[in-house]
Amino acid sequence: MPETSVSVSQKSYSAGPSGRTIVYDEDGKPCRSCNTLLDFKFATNALHGKVADSTGAVPEAAAAAATVSANIPGSKHYRQVEPADVEELGRSSWTLLHTAAAKYPRQPSDAQKQEMRQFLSIFSHIYPCNWCAKDFEQYIRDRAPRVDSRDELGQWMCEAHNDVNQKLGKELFDCNFWKKRWLDGWE
Ligand SMILES: Cc1cc2nc3c(=O)[nH]c(=O)nc-3n(C[C@H](O)[C@H](O)[C@H](O)COP(=O)(O)OP(=O)(O)OC[C@H]3O[C@@H](n4cnc5c(N)ncnc54)[C@H](O)[C@@H]3O)c2cc1C
Repeated sequence: MPETSVSVSQKSYSAGPSGRTIVYDEDGKPCRSCNTLLDFKFATNALHGKVADSTGAVPEAAAAAATVSANIPGSKHYRQVEPADVEELGRSSWTLLHTAAAKYPRQPSDAQKQEMRQFLSIFSHIYPCNWCAKDFEQYIRDRAPRVDSRDELGQWMCEAHNDVNQKLGKELFDCNFWKKRWLDGWE
């Protein structure tokens, strides 16, 4: 979690409605992919001089987070979906990472092992929530990805995810079930 408090329009907000510290990009704007959508809207509204109610929430922000979006002008299919917040980005990314592990060869070649190491290293550099990325980079430095087989990689990924779960105060996932969750299903 980022530790600094932030200053918006001469007011100081250490946390948004979710209770988390609000993270800002280098340009001083709230970072969408580093905050929850509610906190992002809260901080954006604060930036424009709108104030929170007594519960700490900006009513429009809460409403916006829950609103069903209209279609993009001229499109019958595509909706005006908001860019991903930290949670949606996380869920989508874990889906990719666990599924890639689940489909990794049982007996990978040296080239496939190298590709997976490189992919995880690059992923940890470019993950678009910078404070999440830094911790993941460090995790990879401390516990090198185990790429010798599908089972080892799936287990490693589960442990890496649990490291984040622990940091966020969430229940740990039982890694005995990683394959059911991400490959075989539950019958
Ligand atoms: C590399 C990375 C680093 C992240 N770092 C941060 C961070 O520093 N701060 C932050 O706020 N968010 C971070 N996130 C996002 C965070 O991990 C969650 O994705 C987000 O909070 C949404 O959580 P969720 O409860 O919806 O489920 P998620 O944690 O996204 O999990 C999705 C699903 O995966 C399954 N699952 C859960 N744990 C495991 C496990 N250990 N192994 C296998 N399957 C599992 C469950 O079925 C769960 O429903 C990170 C995401 C990634 C990919």
